[in-house]
Amino acid sequence: MQILHHGAVNGVTGSCHQLLINSENSLLVDCGLFQGAETSGRGDDDLLSIEFDISSVQALLVTHCHIDHVGRIPYLLAAGFSGPIITTEASAALLPMVIEDALKVGVTRNRSIITACLSRLKKQLVAVPYKKWFNVRLQGAVKAKVKFQPAGHILGSAYIEIDVKPINEKSKRIVFSGDLGATYSPLLASPKSPYKADIVVIESTYGDKNHQGRKDRAKSLQRVLEKAVADNGVVIIPAFSIGRTQELLYELEQIVGRAKFNKLSDIEVIVDSPMAAKFTKHYQTFQALWDAEAKRRVKQGRQPLNFDSLYTVDTHDEHMQTIEYLVKRNKPAIVIAASGMCSGGRVVNYLKRFISEPTADVLFVGYQAQGTLGRDIQKYGPRGGYVYIEGQKLDVKAGVFTISGYSAHADQSNLVNFVKRIRHKPEKVIIVHGDADAKNALKAKLEREGIKAVIGR
Ligand SMILES: [Zn+2]
Ligand SMILES: [Zn+2]
Repeated sequence: MQILHHGAVNGVTGSCHQLLINSENSLLVDCGLFQGAETSGRGDDDLLSIEFDISSVQALLVTHCHIDHVGRIPYLLAAGFSGPIITTEASAALLPMVIEDALKVGVTRNRSIITACLSRLKKQLVAVPYKKWFNVRLQGAVKAKVKFQPAGHILGSAYIEIDVKPINEKSKRIVFSGDLGATYSPLLASPKSPYKADIVVIESTYGDKNHQGRKDRAKSLQRVLEKAVADNGVVIIPAFSIGRTQELLYELEQIVGRAKFNKLSDIEVIVDSPMAAKFTKHYQTFQALWDAEAKRRVKQGRQPLNFDSLYTVDTHDEHMQTIEYLVKRNKPAIVIAASGMCSGGRVVNYLKRFISEPTADVLFVGYQAQGTLGRDIQKYGPRGGYVYIEGQKLDVKAGVFTISGYSAHADQSNLVNFVKRIRHKPEKVIIVHGDADAKNALKAKLEREGIKAVIGR
């Protein structure tokens, strides 16, 4: 058995791992898109094409619906993959929307091509419940079964346990972490470690950092909102459509709801992303997957993802009108718009309009990859620098804040605990999905715990 990494090796994007079982059989875990600086120096063709042999791939297993884990699926289909695409029920509901959006943004607006791709996707999609073994059909006598366990990262996210039983040999269990959620993230329950594993392939996005605690985080968020209320400013939050937006709304409902009789309570929260609005609906549909605290709030009659001062912007016209409205406003407002790393999407228009205004604030709640506009603002903003937005040089006069932990990724201690708490210890941990510093730090930490760790290549 062997594991090949076709992405998320030199960075965090492009996740795609291949578990080679024998010459006839392999399983693919995720098939994601490369983003940000990880795309530079490579042509579109290299990035998108499936450059490895897929003739032995019997199934694609999808950990979750973030684009850097699923974005190359259309290319996999185009390369002739006709096997099952296996994922959780919630992910299966989200996936067609995510792929449709990815096709529209990056590939084609041609309706018939999009429809053809989606109908193939839906035909191959197999939704399985959490925590139940599912047999994957292989060639020959070798057997494999897979189990999806809640990963607490975004709706539907899972880490995947794969049991492979070669002929006349003991079975082996390989665990692919996908992206793991942080312990005290709102809305979804945090992941529990698997009972046993022989090999663990683990992400390391925050392998060298520990997040702020949830209380600190909520306080930091409240402080940014109070500044906005004090100077009637607009707070721009670049957010990924799936997960982070919903976590933020959940925390905002708490802050705004508790504030009842001061100015904070009538701060407008604007979600300017039709996709984010759709995903929020799905979060509501799959309420059964929420954690105990979130369910308690619902029982109290609250609507954590659909409160009174929440507005959603749909069409492009409405989007432009909203910007004009905010320019003329004399009330504070919060705008949540994609893309999360400011590398495109509607947030760019807000930044262009407000980044040079001292009353405005840009609040980062997620990882900013190198080479993205988000990373530039984060880096040059606090020292009074400038950034280029669509070729225009703009001084960053807005406040720039970063709150870690809404990012829905486990931090260093969460990652170490995930491995440490496996009852039957793995013989090896393979570290992927991180910058070099993060991977090295996590490797050192795991080794100090007596766990053999290597960096995936
Ligand atoms: Zn993710
Ligand atoms: Zn990821």
